[in-house]
Amino acid sequence: MALRLHNTLSGRVEEFVPLADNQVRVYTCGPTVYNYGHIGNYRTFVFQDILRRHLKYRGYQVIQVMNLTDVDDKTIRNAREAGLPLREYTARFIEAFKVDRKLLNMDDVEFMVRATDHIPEMVELVQTLQRKGYAYASDGSIYFKVEAFPDYGKLSHMKLAGNLAGARVDADEYEKADVRDFVLWKAAKEGEDSWDTPIGRGRPGWHLECSVMAMKYLGATLDIHSGGTDLIFPHHENEIAQSEAATGQPFARFWVHGEHLIVNSQKMSKSLGNFYTLRDLIARQYKPTAVRYLLMSVPYRKPLNFTFDGLKQAEQSLDRLRNFRDRLTTETFTVGSNPDMAARAVAARTGFEEALDDDLNTAEALGAIFDLVREGNIAMDRGEFREGERGDYLDVLERWDRIFAVLDDEDYAKLRQFGFIQAAAAATSGGAASNEASQVVAGAGYAAPVLVETLTETEIEDRLKARERARRAGKYAEADHIRNELLKAGIVIEDSKTGTRWKRK
Ligand code: AMP
Ligand code: ZN
Repeated sequence: MALRLHNTLSGRVEEFVPLADNQVRVYTCGPTVYNYGHIGNYRTFVFQDILRRHLKYRGYQVIQVMNLTDVDDKTIRNAREAGLPLREYTARFIEAFKVDRKLLNMDDVEFMVRATDHIPEMVELVQTLQRKGYAYASDGSIYFKVEAFPDYGKLSHMKLAGNLAGARVDADEYEKADVRDFVLWKAAKEGEDSWDTPIGRGRPGWHLECSVMAMKYLGATLDIHSGGTDLIFPHHENEIAQSEAATGQPFARFWVHGEHLIVNSQKMSKSLGNFYTLRDLIARQYKPTAVRYLLMSVPYRKPLNFTFDGLKQAEQSLDRLRNFRDRLTTETFTVGSNPDMAARAVAARTGFEEALDDDLNTAEALGAIFDLVREGNIAMDRGEFREGERGDYLDVLERWDRIFAVLDDEDYAKLRQFGFIQAAAAATSGGAASNEASQVVAGAGYAAPVLVETLTETEIEDRLKARERARRAGKYAEADHIRNELLKAGIVIEDSKTGTRWKRK
């Protein structure tokens, strides 16, 4: 079945077919790199990652561009406060963003590009708009003349003419000829970063950046343009106006917008202060994959309410999935085949694939997989699961995970790789098992909160061996003691027929 996506432009769910062959050209508005991203931002980026992965799953080649807004009022203000050059200041948050993306298992995009690396192209676009009569200068800034673009409002479906009668009254408070007009190029201000260019000394407006970077890497017409719903107006409306006025071509065929992550019925946002960064949640001992799971558990066009209970449930769901895969890989099943169980694997696969084809219905796709987990577990418990289906089941999980990307428990390895976890030197001396497994060292400035690991993997393995020896020798009290000490250190032990496994809580 064909992939269908909701297109904000038409207001309908439409069948998606790329413009050219098999190639899908996608632009996603990236972060403003003045601080760490919050998990509201990441809800949007995770949904875009699911979109990307599903397109690839369906055999398309994806070319995706994401901009990094590294010049605007906020980046300039914060860099000044930090006493750093803008580029150096934003570089830290670009790095942090890339690390967060890796922690959240987001696929790398083909082009992740800085706005300030595209100043000449932006100047060119402004010059084109001036030449074609869509732009005018006022007090050193350059504005887009909305009146000259009759299609303005087609994305947000706003009836602007009506709104404007009142708004025009205040128009002379602006340097703009019409209150709707938006800035393409901002005149340089004392103490702010600016560039010397043929259109004057200044800096680009935010909307301009995206039009330029989208068309530079993807051509005049993109297949998909995406962001959170807050970007529909004015950002995306303005992108359409600038791009289409300049090229005369449709700018993007599909506009795909994600609903917000909310907290107590308000949008999670920096300005409201009701936000958590991924790092905040790591510091509270939540795994990035649980965060990813939570963010994608609700279909992208529905608001998602963030709660810690929800995050805990996400962890439990993940454990359930991972344990099921562990059973499939480690348990011994009777040789043969069970046609009923084989049919369930087929149903789960078509179930999740069709759910995603249906405007990325991730909740239904999860449902299809959890049906398989439940039925599979029951069959295994009853001894009805057969060796013949092992491969089919693992294959469904592997396919599902190509898109959802949460099954591998690599969180700790990645946290260690990116310097979030430091082995505590003191802890290696031995008797540290009664300490917390890890603790947050706050106040590391720009660095992430660091979790100090008091037990290394080798130490845990050693303790498990000691426990095994104690059990073999019938010293059950000693074995239980070791188990409890490990538990206090945040290490959970699971005994099964095939041996003992451990994991960090
Ligand atoms: P920004 O860094 O503010 O430019 O935003 C980056 C992306 O995050 C944009 O696509 C926004 O629409 C999106 N975004 C911001 N806040 C939220 C939220 N609470 N929930 C979902 N997406 C958001
Ligand atoms: Zn944008």
